[in-house]
Amino acid sequence: MDLELKDKIAVITGGSKGIGEAVARELAREGVHLALCARHKEEVENTARKISETFGVQALGFACDVSRLKDIEQFVEAVKNTYPEGVDILINNAGTGSAEKIIDAPDSRWQYYWDLHVMAAVRLSRLLAPLMQKRGGGVIINNASICARQPLDYEPIYNVTKAALVMFSKCLANEFITYNIRVNCVSPGLILTPDWYKTANIVGKEKGMTPEEYLENIAKENAPIGRFATPEELAHFMVFLCSPKASYCVGSNYYVDGGWLRVT
Ligand code: NDP
Repeated sequence: MDLELKDKIAVITGGSKGIGEAVARELAREGVHLALCARHKEEVENTARKISETFGVQALGFACDVSRLKDIEQFVEAVKNTYPEGVDILINNAGTGSAEKIIDAPDSRWQYYWDLHVMAAVRLSRLLAPLMQKRGGGVIINNASICARQPLDYEPIYNVTKAALVMFSKCLANEFITYNIRVNCVSPGLILTPDWYKTANIVGKEKGMTPEEYLENIAKENAPIGRFATPEELAHFMVFLCSPKASYCVGSNYYVDGGWLRVT
């Protein structure tokens, strides 16, 4: 199936590794040019360079902390300079898990995750919409989490801010479809990325397990499919959502979770 994505231009936050990198690679495979951001400059520049060399597309790698408005404004300026013709796709992906108790988590922690998971998507959507309108429309995907609906006990701030991102996606979809910008949300389950390896190393050791044993246990306990997804399995779905083949998909939240969600 030709996904009709060749020479489209995509902006991806958290594009240096994990899910963001997989989406970047799978879009580049379809001939999409990229602007990736992440906090660590060298890493995001390396990822962009490797993708560019492998797939023959243009790829900007830019250091940016999306929890900060100033950084976002600088990133958008760099995107405009690199792609003055506009952009077609925005993937709001940057994010990370949390660990706290509500009883003692300070306001600053709530504020950080609000800025990271919600305001980054608000600000980038607002700032990039005119660049999409230049191209006659576009696609925005917000990467939330199954935890937006089915919370994990150890990370209330993550659950709450991801739930807000799902609602933001719906509101944005209703407003932006009038500009021919299709907005959707994706809620992944267990995706095997560097973030999970980090957790497996720490928590696995505490429980007397190898990281591999810990990850296998998590998958068997939670996902009926009994395993983690690869980042590519999720990326394939996101690439489809970006394509004109998904032209009637607007304002939905799609679970990609191996059956983990316990309710319909
Ligand atoms: P990784 O930790 O593997 O990658 C996260 C990416 O985001 C990196 O590129 C990281 O680079 C970047 N990033 C983190 N914080 C910021 C920031 N403040 N500003 C800019 N970039 C940032 O995570 P995943 O790939 O696992 O997760 C990606 C998204 O998917 C997250 O939003 C996560 O909540 C969501 N998700 C993941 C699931 C999973 O099982 N893996 C399940 C459900 C949702 P750097 O550190 O250099 O900034």
